Amino acid sequence: MNDTNNTAGSAAETRAFDTEVHQLLKLMINALYSNREIFLRELVSNASDALDKLRFQALTDGDLQSVVQDPAITVTVEPDDNTLVVTDNGIGMTREDVIENLGTIARSGTARFLESLSGDQKADAKLIGQFGVGFYSAFIVADRVTVETRHAAAAADAGVRWSSDGKGEYTLEATTLSEPGTRVRLHLAEDHRDLLDPDRVKRIVRHYSNHISFPITVVAAGDESDQAPEIVNDTQALWIRPKAEIEDAEYEEFYQGLSGDLQSPVKWAHHHVEGTQSYSMLLFLPGQAPFDLAWNRDDRRGVKLYIQRVFIMDAAEQLLPRYLRFIRGVVDSADLPLNVSREILQDSPLLDKIRAAVVRRALDMIEKLADEGGEAWTTFQREFGNVLKEGVIEDPENRERIAGLLRFASTVERAPHSVSLADYLARAGEQPEAVWYLTGDSMDQLLASPHLEAFSKAGVEVLLLTDPIDVWLVNHLFEFDGKPLKSAASGEFEAPADEGEEATEAVQQQRDELCGTIKKLLGERVGNVRPSKRLTDSASCIAEEAGGMTLQMRRMLKQAGQDVPDFKPDLEINPRHPLVARLAETGDETRRTELAHLLLDQALLIDGGELADPAGFVKRVNKLLSA
Ligand code: ADP
Repeated sequence: MNDTNNTAGSAAETRAFDTEVHQLLKLMINALYSNREIFLRELVSNASDALDKLRFQALTDGDLQSVVQDPAITVTVEPDDNTLVVTDNGIGMTREDVIENLGTIARSGTARFLESLSGDQKADAKLIGQFGVGFYSAFIVADRVTVETRHAAAAADAGVRWSSDGKGEYTLEATTLSEPGTRVRLHLAEDHRDLLDPDRVKRIVRHYSNHISFPITVVAAGDESDQAPEIVNDTQALWIRPKAEIEDAEYEEFYQGLSGDLQSPVKWAHHHVEGTQSYSMLLFLPGQAPFDLAWNRDDRRGVKLYIQRVFIMDAAEQLLPRYLRFIRGVVDSADLPLNVSREILQDSPLLDKIRAAVVRRALDMIEKLADEGGEAWTTFQREFGNVLKEGVIEDPENRERIAGLLRFASTVERAPHSVSLADYLARAGEQPEAVWYLTGDSMDQLLASPHLEAFSKAGVEVLLLTDPIDVWLVNHLFEFDGKPLKSAASGEFEAPADEGEEATEAVQQQRDELCGTIKKLLGERVGNVRPSKRLTDSASCIAEEAGGMTLQMRRMLKQAGQDVPDFKPDLEINPRHPLVARLAETGDETRRTELAHLLLDQALLIDGGELADPAGFVKRVNKLLSA
């Protein structure tokens, strides 16, 4: 739209806003003060809606077709007048429209915003950056807003001028506008005149409205240059374009802009979904983890939510579970209301569906990478493998799928992240009894563990789990492909006895008696003591109770400051070990007690447990050594 002229003879009419607008506006302005720039997003988005509406209505209304021009949104900076103007050549408004849309708070996005205010200014301000608040947000920065508008189907002299200082009243007068469309003129309050800078305005437009599909230009008043002003936004939002048209380089560039990552993404997934609900999603798998990925579990800024190409918020937590927090991307919904809030998103069935699709597509992408294998997959495992493990705990619905993507070290392949559960089962042959694993602090500790002795004798592979998360993982992953996961420390596994090694009943009885003696000597320190069927080299080990708390887990909980109940470990002893033989033979009661305590201390130490009385342990060892 171009010129405006006052229509002679039409007196301005003053009207009151319908409710306590003044108070409400004040509240909003306070809450939004630190996010003031969003006013431009709101005005541009209204302009874009108006252009959409005109295009849509012109499809069926022949008269309107002649009105449709090249759609354009212009932001004009007029420093001399302390004014910013947002102009569009969209559908425009009739006088009734203006009264209804700009005269009543209840109709606008502002009303919904105000309803959701908590009264806590800080929380409200935080909430708002991601909110559609509507036209009235202009009053965050302006002390007077003037709207001149003419409906596309109305005559030139049916223009309307609306003007208000946002304090409870507005004036309305007829005017003549040579072109249909809407012009919103903001007279900036003194505090906000720093916004009268075209470069700054361009930055704001790019930040919030880069993917509006109509061209946006920012011009400075008095700029006489003949060149057409440059279009500030990227009118062709990448994600809404057909996949076949998009070059890899464009995806890569888009990812880098989106994520700030200087590297290229490893993979992307781009989908357009049409149906009861329409949306586009574009997801990226980065090549490297941000430095704080492991511990910064709550900061998920990866996936942006757009609604009809208008940026709404970083909605990663609504769109992605924690264990996929490394995924980057964009979701653009055609169906969510623009004035959506985080609270609304929290329990929006629409969004639940999108979220499920995002998870499915993200897992597809990771599976594809796994199938391709190679360097990229190894890197993925190194960077994100441990975070993915959280999924087994967090996302029961996808547990089996996620478990299939996990990789571990094992007694067969010791490199970290190399063995999948499927590999394990395939290697285990016909009828694997279980997937055996052992958790601990380091590979060295695990490889030296007495719990592995029986397995190495029997040639059975054991997964070696050394990441802190593994302890929790095995508490949630009970089986894979129908096979139970079992701890090698539980004592359930028995190595096949060697020829002629079967103990006679008499020997068996002797061993049981010895265990009884040791239990008596150790008193309150142990639960059960039993002869071990699995130890070959070590003298003793702790038998973990199946499903119980491991020593490692107890220690981790303690370190985290949690109360851990006392427990009495079960002890297994190797009757064939010389130390045990000495204990059985000696007649010296004190020495026998010392040996018994040593057997227990050793077993605890080797499993990464803590000794309640380390000084006593050292004393006992020294005494034995010097004896
Ligand atoms: P919302 O956009 O959430 O409806 P707003 O307060 O931003 O709330 O706007 C209220 C209404 O005013 C819009 O729904 C629209 O009908 C009308 N409107 C606002 N800006 C324009 C514009 N530039 N062109 C045409 N109509 C507009």
